[in-house]
Order: sequence, then C-alpha cells, then structure tokens
Amino acid sequence: MDPALLESTLADAGQPAFRARQVWEWAARGAAGYGEMTNVPAALREELDGRVPFSSLELVREAFATDGTVKALFRTHDGRSVEAVLMQYRDGRRSVCLSSQSGCPLTCTFCATGTMKFGRNLTAGEILDQALHFRREHEINHVVFMGMGEPMMNLPQVLETCRRLPSMGVTHRRTAVSTVGWIPGIDALAEEPMPIRLALSLHAADEALRSQIMPINDRYPLAEVLAACERFYAAKKRQVFVEYVMLAGVNDQAVHARELAAVLDPRIYKVNLIPYNPTGMYDGSPRAVIERFRAVLEEQGVGATIRLTMGRDIDAACGQLAAKVAGEEASVGAEADPGAGEESGPAPDAEAAAAP
Ligand code: SAH
Repeated sequence: MDPALLESTLADAGQPAFRARQVWEWAARGAAGYGEMTNVPAALREELDGRVPFSSLELVREAFATDGTVKALFRTHDGRSVEAVLMQYRDGRRSVCLSSQSGCPLTCTFCATGTMKFGRNLTAGEILDQALHFRREHEINHVVFMGMGEPMMNLPQVLETCRRLPSMGVTHRRTAVSTVGWIPGIDALAEEPMPIRLALSLHAADEALRSQIMPINDRYPLAEVLAACERFYAAKKRQVFVEYVMLAGVNDQAVHARELAAVLDPRIYKVNLIPYNPTGMYDGSPRAVIERFRAVLEEQGVGATIRLTMGRDIDAACGQLAAKVAGEEASVGAEADPGAGEESGPAPDAEAAAAP
C-alpha cells in the first residue's frame, strides 16, 4: 500500500485526517484487505479498493525452506522483479530482508544482482509492500535493506519506508541499511534523526583487490568510505557492521584478515563474515578457512561473527529464484524478467544471520 496515495486519496474524498492513519494501521498490523477494516465505513472501503491498490506488488512465486526461511518473488505494475526474504530464528527474531531497487546499477563481481540489468528505484509503497506481504502471516521485528539494489542510491524512499516500519513492529534500532560505501548516503544517514543502523559491505581491505571485487571502490575508495563511517559513528554512537563475503582464494587468507584488522577500529566496527552463496563467478571459502579468518581477526582485537546460513534449499542465493522463474517463462515464450536478483542478510544486531 502506498501511504502517500492513501493520504491524498482520503484527503480528496474529504475524509478526516485520522482516517489515513486508521487505514494504514490495519494494513501494518497484517490485514489481508480493506474488507477487514471494520471501523472504516463500508462505502469508503469500497472506494479505496478501486483507487488505492491494497498491494502494489503481484506475488509471482514463494519458496519455503525447511528452516522457516521464506523467499518471495514479486512483480511490479510495470513488470519489474523484486525479491524479499523472511528469516525466522530460534530466539524469536523475525527479520525481513528488503529490496530497494529492481536490479542494481553497481557491478560487484560476486553478486548476481550486479550482473543483471538495472531496472529502477522502487517507491516506498513497493518497498513497504514486501514487508507487508510477510506481515500478513507473521509478526516481524527486524528489517535489513540487503535485498536487490543499493539502498543509498534510493535513500529518500528507503527513509520514507523506515518511517513506517515502527507501525509494523520494527523499531528504527532494529532496522539496518547496507551499503557498498556510497559516501553521500552514509553522511545523510548520519544526519538523519531516526536511529537506523549502518552496515558496510567491505569484502577487501586492500584498495586494488576491493576495486577488482567492487568497481564502486574506484569512485569511493575504502579509506574515504571508512572516514565516512567514522563520521557516522561520531554522530550516532552506533557501531557499524562490516559485511565480508568469503570468496575462496580471493579475499579469505590470513594476510587479508590482518589487513582488515589493521583498518578497523574495534570500537567502531563489528565484522560479520558471510559464507558465499555461489552464483557462478567464485567459490565459497570452506568452513575451516572462514573459522581461521575469524580467529585472526579476534587475535587482532576485532570482534567477528560468522553469518548463519539459512534458506539454502530454496534458491535463496542472489537472483536464483528470479532467474529460475525468468528461465521457465522464457521457455514457454513469455517475456523474460527485465532484471532480477536478490540478497538477504543479517539482522542488525545478529550474532549470526542468513546467507544471501
Ligand atoms: N547494495 C547493498 C545492499 C545489497 S547486498 C550492499 O552491497 O551492501 C547485501 C549483502 O549481500 C552485501 O554485503 C553483499 O555483498 C552480499 N552478497 C551479495 N551476493 C552474495 C552472495 N552470492 N553470497 C553471499 N553474500 C552476497
């Protein structure tokens, strides 16, 4: 549901100001349609049904993993693919991983979304509808912007989404935005009054290696990105989560861990090592290599956790579900996806979380 469209439609209809909040709160608490909104006049519910789509997204496919992870593939009104994931943990955390763009204009070499064509920025309504989809079946308490796209390149819509999340049960402190290191976005988030958490996709402490893995490093070099994260910490007093995807033989050796520890102030950063979900280009590091990397970081005084892998049995890796559906559609002569892919990630304060 697009809250802005809801507000303008109700205002045009001469409705009192409280009405938009009343309708939104029904949706945010998991109503399945306008019909359930018993304190809203029936005629108005009917009018809303015709003028404000209850969801801007059409569910294309949903996959359920044995560990409780649910992945949904949606399509927007103009045919763009969007993926979102719900992760359910034994400790009661229910975390939703949201996409901020369809496709991604950046070209990180290990990421399936990055190898696909960029679609467009999603609206706040389209981002909220991903979360509302899961909210209709489950309570949710964490949100991470670790799905398709670079949230800092669509920050106004991402922040508009964040403003609405508490009504769905997700506080700002349990909301995290993950970035490749888009400096203007990091600075904007540092200025933002909402206490939203920051996660940085780092992946290599050496500038040349990082540029090779993430071409954005040529535009925003790591040293400048870390300076921006330090400004964020100074402004917000919130630790920054470092995401580090473990690519076999590429960035997973002890020397890389020492380089990483050398650039991270342990008061400011906490590292989350991500077992790679292979999507073609690289192999994932073996478990023992990831453990050794973590041990080296700890020896150097840098706190590090290893992300729990979830949803492996449901095409939960980046773009897998969208790619599969696009392939099936192509084989029956339908139009292929204009761009698809997805990543999911950890809950903001996760000891361990889902692998993309
Ligand atoms: N553009 C933002 C948010 C989306 S990516 C960013 O880069 O931070 C969310 C996380 O998933 C990133 O840390 C990314 O590096 C990671 N990721 C992407 N593809 C992956 C894969 N195949 N396996 C494991 N992690 C992956």
